[in-house]
Amino acid sequence: MLLTLTTTYEPATDLGYLLAKHPARVQSFDLAFGKAHVFYPEASARCCTAALLLEIDPVGLVRREAGSGFVLAQYVNDRPYAASSFLSVAIAQVYGSALHGRSRERPELAATPIPLAATLTALPCRGGEPVLRRLFEPLGYTLTARQAPLDPALPEWGNSPYFTVTLSAIARLQTLLSHLYVLIPVLDDAKHYFVGSDEVEKLLRHGEGWLHSHPDRDLIIRRYLRHRRSLTEAALDRLLAETAEASPDTEAATEEEIAEERLNLHQQRLEAVLSVLKESGAQRVLDLGCGEGKLLALLLREPQFSQLLGLDVSVRSLEAAAERLNLDRLPPAQRARISLVHGSLMYRDPRLSGFDAAAVVEVIEHLDPPRLSAFERVVFEFARPATVVLTTPNAEYNVRWPSLPAGQLRHRDHRFEWTRAEFYAWAQSVASRFGYRFRLQPIGPEDGEVGAPSQMAVFERLATE
Ligand code: SAH
Repeated sequence: MLLTLTTTYEPATDLGYLLAKHPARVQSFDLAFGKAHVFYPEASARCCTAALLLEIDPVGLVRREAGSGFVLAQYVNDRPYAASSFLSVAIAQVYGSALHGRSRERPELAATPIPLAATLTALPCRGGEPVLRRLFEPLGYTLTARQAPLDPALPEWGNSPYFTVTLSAIARLQTLLSHLYVLIPVLDDAKHYFVGSDEVEKLLRHGEGWLHSHPDRDLIIRRYLRHRRSLTEAALDRLLAETAEASPDTEAATEEEIAEERLNLHQQRLEAVLSVLKESGAQRVLDLGCGEGKLLALLLREPQFSQLLGLDVSVRSLEAAAERLNLDRLPPAQRARISLVHGSLMYRDPRLSGFDAAAVVEVIEHLDPPRLSAFERVVFEFARPATVVLTTPNAEYNVRWPSLPAGQLRHRDHRFEWTRAEFYAWAQSVASRFGYRFRLQPIGPEDGEVGAPSQMAVFERLATE
């Protein structure tokens, strides 16, 4: 099975940087089910094509799948040559950085839509060409499909379910690879491996930004998860919740800003966080839920911080952050210190590893309480920086705001606001479960009765025995 990717963006050989595969070399990779080879049939400045050829090891497959299906299925199946979910696995393993939108040498190009064409040979399409079109055309692809006859010598046998398909669009390479990663197994409708709950994570991660609004969303989810109803429902639920978060209500944001304006509370908060980060000695710092990049702008001014990564679920906020930080105009040495990435704090994300500290400023109250535990693991178990600084409103203080009707939260998108005791209980539970110590600090003027308007927790990782 073969996937070719072609670009005419000039110099087209930059495709090699985007895929992290040198155009002049043939490279081979061992995968659990066979071998993948990457080579370039064409590599000129005008046009460059990278080919990913998968060689499935049929003997290995028999061993892995022993006992399934009809007796001969182990020996007679289309897996060695059809573009099945093996190809998705190969994309993730061989083109992993490109699939995650990363490129060491050409980060800007990775973030830029360029002319791309992908050709898949022997793509099994359950539902035929109509399904193929329904899946790809709403995503903006021009599609050509040629159906292979069952046997070219015996036309009366009719067509096989296999197509050679070319998809063209002006798109980011990451977007194209994510679409292929999700939709190839959907077309095949016969995933080779056990579909477990981590498949929900993969689906949501690679479907981010497009799956929610796809007209055939439900079909995609159902087939990707191989008709496992409980998983399908879980995926749909989370997709819908996620999207609610992904569109912060700017109007409401302004209301919150007005409510808090008198105190210039946000500025005080950012300064408190900044001073904790400076004192911690951290050099590599995450800003999780970075929003429009107000904290990042402060951090960038401090030479102590050598590497900054801002993550947010909202693309709109990230665009605003890129603007605020003048990313396009920064001198290269400055530019290299900072990156902004799109992602969700609900999912374990390898990009968050290896940092000294993380700031999570006014974010947790935007997360649904039942999903807080996912967030806690992402930050405290997987990213696991030595210092975590987290702020959230103090609900008790709301009665001191004349503009805020009683019982109302400060922001329409807040899912909860905690009292000081609730925040303490949460912080204590997180610290004890994940091996951190913590302290709390009020932010803003303290009121004898209801405390300060905002509260901050500083977590420090305990030395491991
Ligand atoms: N930290 C920023 C923004 C706070 S507003 C500041 O202090 O100025 C809350 C931010 O959290 C928003 O930008 C929102 O998009 C982001 N957010 C909400 N849910 C998220 C999630 N699941 N993953 C990542 N970011 C999220």
